[in-house]
Amino acid sequence: MKILHAVAAGLVPPLCAACGRNCRPGAPTCTRCSRRLAVAAPLTGLGPPGIDRVWSSASHEGVARDLVTALKFRRLLPVAGLMADRIHWLAPADLLSGAIVPVPTAPLRALARGFDPAGELAAALAERLGLPLEPCLVRKGGGRQVGKRRAQRIGHPPRIHARSEPPRSVLLIDDVLTTGATLSACARALREAGAVRVAAITFARRL
Ligand SMILES: [Zn+2]
Repeated sequence: MKILHAVAAGLVPPLCAACGRNCRPGAPTCTRCSRRLAVAAPLTGLGPPGIDRVWSSASHEGVARDLVTALKFRRLLPVAGLMADRIHWLAPADLLSGAIVPVPTAPLRALARGFDPAGELAAALAERLGLPLEPCLVRKGGGRQVGKRRAQRIGHPPRIHARSEPPRSVLLIDDVLTTGATLSACARALREAGAVRVAAITFARRL
């Protein structure tokens, strides 16, 4: 906390969430990283099975990848705001509708971290868009994806179900799209429980 107070008092220059260099007070990233992210191209296309449309604000590389890591492992909340701003500004307007549903984190991981990156991003986005936030999905088991080989991740999709009646029109939110197996599992659970439209937005997409 002493460091936070020193940052707030302007005694210690804040550090860029992506590259760790000094940056302006109040800015989550330095000017160089902001410029690099600004020119990153969004990715759009057909979603994984069960998802009507998917849109990602950048490919999972460079500054975008560094920010995903900062949110996931260093719990930097201003990063969730920065990601939500980018999605708000760049995503196709007709995609930004329905109710926001975060992709659920595995309970053991959320407990261990005390932090849920997709949940934080979804909350920041719902606030900016004025859309309802409905965290109606839960995930069973460990479902750990980080570090598993791609074939293993595809072979064992996470077990996800709806704990309450989902909205008819859903906008699923996650920090990063990898194989699409998690989004498909979410879509299956949502549609079985009554959802009609299921679109998805992620901050980054691994190609
Ligand atoms: Zn930087």
